[in-house]
Amino acid sequence: MLALVKRERAPGMWLDDVPVPAPGRSDVLIRVLKTGICGTDVHIFSWDEWAQGRLKPPLVVGHEFVGRVEEAGEAVSGFQPGDIVSGEGHIGCGHCYYCRTGQGHICRKVEIIGVDRDGCFAQYLRMPESNVWKVRPGIPHEIAAIFDPLGNAMHTVMAQPVAGRSVAVVGAGAIGLMACRIAEAAGALSVVVVEPQAHKRALALRMGAHAAYDPAADGWFEKFIADTPDGVGVDVVLEISGAQQGIHKAFDMVRPGGEVALLGIPSRPVTLDLSNSIIFKSVTVRGVNGRLMYETWYQCERFLLEHKLDLSPVVTHRMPYGEYQEAFRLLRNGDAVKIILEWDA
Ligand SMILES: [Zn+2]
Ligand SMILES: [Zn+2]
Repeated sequence: MLALVKRERAPGMWLDDVPVPAPGRSDVLIRVLKTGICGTDVHIFSWDEWAQGRLKPPLVVGHEFVGRVEEAGEAVSGFQPGDIVSGEGHIGCGHCYYCRTGQGHICRKVEIIGVDRDGCFAQYLRMPESNVWKVRPGIPHEIAAIFDPLGNAMHTVMAQPVAGRSVAVVGAGAIGLMACRIAEAAGALSVVVVEPQAHKRALALRMGAHAAYDPAADGWFEKFIADTPDGVGVDVVLEISGAQQGIHKAFDMVRPGGEVALLGIPSRPVTLDLSNSIIFKSVTVRGVNGRLMYETWYQCERFLLEHKLDLSPVVTHRMPYGEYQEAFRLLRNGDAVKIILEWDA
């Protein structure tokens, strides 16, 4: 089969011919139809410090996908050939305290597809039945392909109450944009976005944000504060950019007694004025990682089906897998939000 492989410890990815994975007794073999390219994949492509420390090439990359079941191992009971599926890319050990208390995403032995073991940028993917998710009719395949980042957005919004509260989202990439739509559907009083790129601010307004601020514009922060309910900041900040300045600003934007959820991953350690940013302000801070298995998945499904959540503006490009070099170029330049690579053409 053809697959996008991180072949060596150097920048780039290679379209290679590799063996179709053989499913074990409890595994499902999936014919991949569409995949989403994530920021993580861009780090792997660029071979930055994080990727150098984490990956052990050669490895098939990719973790966001939708596909069709091709074959089910003999111990698999919930899937049959032909089922349309997506899957949770964090594969926990299944036996530890975390896995057994619904926190498999922080299992100490967790393996992530496309990072620690072979992933989905390929014609076929092998995955344990426990991690395969049946896609309900009514959910577009393209959206099923990005349930992973949608789950990140859902998990971040649901990490604290948002109904009847003012919410600010820092960073309007795919996850930030989806977080706007979810926060609005979950009953937030107001949702605003801070994002330096104009095309992403425009998308945020289409995704349910009531206002979008350019952090490079003069006086934006004073205007932001003046626009908040009591002129003291918002109840909840969702920090999704991972940029040092974004993280600093998140603590200026939150009101005293408010809450900050951190999902964006800074590339280096960040220095914070804990006394003034958190302690004296009595701010609650949460780290958010991955998705709750599988509460978040059910929430995503229900929001899509019952709230008729329209996420389609997030997908800015669709390309055949052979054009992956161009796709990564667009993402590295910030010219695209979510790119779907098509493997079914
Ligand atoms: Zn991802
Ligand atoms: Zn575990």
